[in-house]
Amino acid sequence: MQILHKHFGSYDFIVVGAGAGGTVVANRLTEIKNWNVLVLEAGGYGDDATDVPNLYGPIEFTRYNWGFNSTPQTTCCLGLQNHICPYPRGKGVGGSTLINGLAYSRGHKSDFQKWEKFANSKRWGYDSVLYYFKKSENFVHNDKQAPYEPQYHATGGYLNVEYHEPRSPQLNAYLEANKELGYDIVDYNANKIGASPVQLNTIHGRRLDGGKAFIHPVRRRKNLKLLTYSYVTKLRIKNGVVRGVEFSHKGNNYVVQATKEVILAAGVFGTPQILLLSGVGPRKHLEDLKIDVVADLEVGSTLRDNSVFYGISISTNYTEPIRPLKEYVKEYLNGVGPYAIPSNDQGIGFYESSYTKGTGIPDIELQVITANGTSALAQRMFYLTDQTFEDLWKYVNIPRTFNVWVIDLHAQSVGTIRLKSKNPYEYPLIDSNFISDPENRDINTLYEGIQLILRLLETKALKAINATLQGGPLRACKRYEYLSRDYWYCALRQLTINLYHPLGTCPMGTDPKKGAVVDSELRVFGFKNLRIADASVFPLALAGHPNAPTVMVGEQAGDLIKLTYLKYVD
Ligand SMILES: Cc1cc2nc3c(=O)[nH]c(=O)nc-3n(C[C@H](O)[C@H](O)[C@H](O)COP(=O)(O)OP(=O)(O)OC[C@H]3O[C@@H](n4cnc5c(N)ncnc54)[C@H](O)[C@@H]3O)c2cc1C
Repeated sequence: MQILHKHFGSYDFIVVGAGAGGTVVANRLTEIKNWNVLVLEAGGYGDDATDVPNLYGPIEFTRYNWGFNSTPQTTCCLGLQNHICPYPRGKGVGGSTLINGLAYSRGHKSDFQKWEKFANSKRWGYDSVLYYFKKSENFVHNDKQAPYEPQYHATGGYLNVEYHEPRSPQLNAYLEANKELGYDIVDYNANKIGASPVQLNTIHGRRLDGGKAFIHPVRRRKNLKLLTYSYVTKLRIKNGVVRGVEFSHKGNNYVVQATKEVILAAGVFGTPQILLLSGVGPRKHLEDLKIDVVADLEVGSTLRDNSVFYGISISTNYTEPIRPLKEYVKEYLNGVGPYAIPSNDQGIGFYESSYTKGTGIPDIELQVITANGTSALAQRMFYLTDQTFEDLWKYVNIPRTFNVWVIDLHAQSVGTIRLKSKNPYEYPLIDSNFISDPENRDINTLYEGIQLILRLLETKALKAINATLQGGPLRACKRYEYLSRDYWYCALRQLTINLYHPLGTCPMGTDPKKGAVVDSELRVFGFKNLRIADASVFPLALAGHPNAPTVMVGEQAGDLIKLTYLKYVD
């Protein structure tokens, strides 16, 4: 059936998606006063998104979260209901930064040396990306005891970075334990191995999402139009030139024209979905769905993530006090305390595994979640089966507990995202495929991370707070001796999930025949007027968290577009 589209006019640039990447692009392009920029975002503003109507047929909207799920998995997630991993993704102005953990972690310089090779361009090498990380940053050294290497940080940018405050005694014990094992307390954004309190995208202790950071300060620019509740379904393409997009808004269907470019920033699932619906993707997949093939590109053929083992829960003799409400409110007004912080994600550590030993390149991360917000929510957050929940978390004394998440930074396993049907309102099929790499490097790395935690538990500092592994054994692994190597490998299959860091579904590279979807200038191969500026362009999983690098991609996109049309950047 032919859908009638009303005309929504014409803009120089159309940015699709107002997430971590899209908000930066919108901000930087509207610095040029005579460029008109339209941003189309499927969700609402952070504060009004409660009234999101269910405009889009079968898609069930939840507040700020698309609520994607993986298909049933065979190599991971076995302790989860139906072996399905949750894939939360933010929806609204700010995108996933509306719901993320806010950890500010850029990745290691060796990642960008590799990225430079993938792109065959110095633009993506370390010196260049460091410039862009600093361009958007406003670093506040609020915790003077915490490490800080000024040459890696900057002030004056839109994105506030500060240390989590105050520290839990559990975090201090964890940091001391690291020192006993010979790990320094380091500024981990300065390419160091070691542990630290976490740097966060908060401002005076409160969540700073992409909308508040990059859109709010420039919302009065006359050349910026941000249309919420606007769901892009397809690109308008003629003879390889992208001319505009189709979208739905409050029950109507529209077409809007781009006289210069369309910039896709709909995230790792939204961006490939729009491309595939537009006939840009693997030929066979499109033909199976009877979608006319416009370009045969490996869109959605590489889904990467930092896989994480959630199964370590540690009891201590320290009890997080429950205090009178007015004390919490007072702390909140001062920008500290449990109400001011978005999560109890307090500590972080980066370590070499045996695969990288002696290189200074981390591929294990430990994230310390104190006084355990996670346990209470674990069953719902991770879709645990009743049995897994009972074995690990049900009987945990939350105020005495901290979790350590074991993260495989350079995960080798690769999943896919594919359309379920031609219907733009149907969620795509996401196959995460964690710990499926034939060499077993991923599962071996995670196992080494677990062994590192067990060594930390033997230190004086952690013994002093009586830190003890709790929960378990998992009944699903009862055929193995508890805590033996075989036991942990079984547990890893049960509870390795994604760290909510999907990336790389439209990777950057030089050769589309080898899987690249965008070139080093973020242009989609084979098209005029089409770029991507979100986490889908990462060519590899980084030794860090993806928000800061996505902001960096947005900054680069702004400059690349200015260079294309103006021949200069500021
Ligand atoms: C629970 C959680 C915890 C996380 N914790 C951290 C962390 O601590 N540190 C960190 O660095 N990273 C973290 N991340 C990841 C980080 O937030 C993302 O990697 C980053 O936001 C990705 O940016 P993006 O621009 O690619 O996509 P997003 O920020 O997801 O933005 C995409 C935007 O596009 C919109 N959109 C999608 N499809 C359409 C369409 N068809 N039409 C119009 N609009 C559309 C979406 O609604 C969304 O607003 C976390 C993520 C989650 C979900």
